[in-house]
Amino acid sequence: MNDDTTPKTKSPLAGLNLNFLAPAEGSQTASMAPVAATTAGGAVSARVVIVGSGPAGLTAAIYAARANLEPIVIGGVVGGGQLMITSEVENYPGFPEGIQGPELMGLFRKQAERFGARIVDADVDRVNLGGRPFRLWAAGIEYRAEAVIVATGAEAIWLGLESETRLRGRGVSACATCDGFFFRDKTIAVVGGGDSALEEALFLTRFASKVHLIHRRDAFRGSKIMQARAASHPKVELHLNRTVEEILGGEHVEAIRLGKTNEPGEETLPLDGVFVAIGHRPNVAVFRDWLETDERGYLRIDGATTASNIDGVFVSGDVDDHRYRQAVTAAGEGCRAAIDAERWLEAQEAYEAPRAAAGAATAH
Ligand SMILES: Cc1cc2nc3c(=O)[nH]c(=O)nc-3n(C[C@H](O)[C@H](O)[C@H](O)COP(=O)(O)OP(=O)(O)OC[C@H]3O[C@@H](n4cnc5c(N)ncnc54)[C@H](O)[C@@H]3O)c2cc1C
Repeated sequence: MNDDTTPKTKSPLAGLNLNFLAPAEGSQTASMAPVAATTAGGAVSARVVIVGSGPAGLTAAIYAARANLEPIVIGGVVGGGQLMITSEVENYPGFPEGIQGPELMGLFRKQAERFGARIVDADVDRVNLGGRPFRLWAAGIEYRAEAVIVATGAEAIWLGLESETRLRGRGVSACATCDGFFFRDKTIAVVGGGDSALEEALFLTRFASKVHLIHRRDAFRGSKIMQARAASHPKVELHLNRTVEEILGGEHVEAIRLGKTNEPGEETLPLDGVFVAIGHRPNVAVFRDWLETDERGYLRIDGATTASNIDGVFVSGDVDDHRYRQAVTAAGEGCRAAIDAERWLEAQEAYEAPRAAAGAATAH
C-alpha cells in the first residue's frame, strides 16, 4: 500500500524480463545458443540439466554449480517464473524493505551465473527419460544429462476476463498468502468453490474488513467443516449461483459485476480486491509420459528426498507442491534437489567407475 488508504498495487509485468535477462558480467549466457561441448551427434551434454528458471530452478543451479556439476538450465522462453508477473515481494527473507519480483529473479540468475551455471532461454518440448543419459529437446537442440532436475512450476488458473488481466496486480491476485497483507481493512472478494477458496477466504478475514465469497454453483465443493467455518464467520458473506462478469476499476479494482445463474439480473458489489482461487495447473505436459503425478496432477516425489519415480530425475518447487506455493519454499526445494542430484551422481560414479575399470581390464 502506498499509504494506508489505497490498496497496495503490485503492478503487472513490472520490468518484465529486463532485469532477468541482463546477463551477469562475464557470464557465458547466450539465449538459445548451445552452451556446452556438443557430442558427435550434435547433442549438448551436461552432468545436470535443470528445467525451469524460477526460484526452484535457479536455486538448484546455484547449488549444482557450486558443487562443480556445471549445470545447464533450460529456463523457459519466459524465464524467471511466476515472480516476473508481480512487483512487490515483501516476504522473501533478506529484503527487509521488500524487492520487486523481476529484480529478485535477476539476482537469482546473476548468482547462478556467477558460479558457472549456463542458462538457455528456451522451452523443453520433448524428453526421453527412458535411460541414461536422459535426453531433452529445446529449440531444436538435444541436451543429454546424467541427472535432471524438473522445476517447471505451476500456473494459477484465471477467470479469463479482459478486466481481470488488466487489473492483475492492481487489486486482482491469485495468492492470498502473498498479497492478503495489502488489503488491511478493505473489502474483497474470493472467487471459487473448493477448499482452497474457502481457506483463502478465511485466511483473508485476518486483514480484510469484509470478504465476499463468490461461487457459480448452488453449493461449495469444499469440505463440510470449511464450509461451516466460512458460513459462520462474521466477516464472510456467501454468494452462491453467481458468476463474475467483469471486474470494474481504472487504476485499481473498485467493484465486481456478478451474473446470476438461478434468477435473472445482475448485481454489483463495491470492493477493493479480488482473489481468484479456482485452482492451479502444474507445468507437467512434457514429463507426463515419464513421471508419476498425484491425484491433482502435480509431480510426485519421494518426500524424504526430491527423487521422482525415475532414478536420477529430481523434482522441485511448485510443480510438486500444491500446499505452500511460495518463493522461499520453492527455493528451499531447489536446494534439496541439487543436493539430492549431487549425492546420487556421486553414488552412481562410485558404483560405475570400478565396473568400467574391470571391463577395461577384461578387454585387455
Ligand atoms: C501473482 C503472484 C504473486 C506472488 N507473490 C509472491 C510473493 O509475494 N512471495 C512469494 O514467496 N511467492 C509469491 N508467489 C508465488 C511464487 O511466485 C511461486 O511459489 C514460485 O515462483 C514458485 O517457484 P518455482 O521455481 O517452483 O516455479 P515458477 O516460478 O513457476 O517457475 C517455473 C519456470 O519454469 C519454466 N518452465 C515451465 N515449463 C517449462 C518447459 N517445458 N521448459 C522450460 N522451462 C519451463 C517457466 O517458464 C518458469 O520460468 C506469487 C505468485 C503469483 C502468481
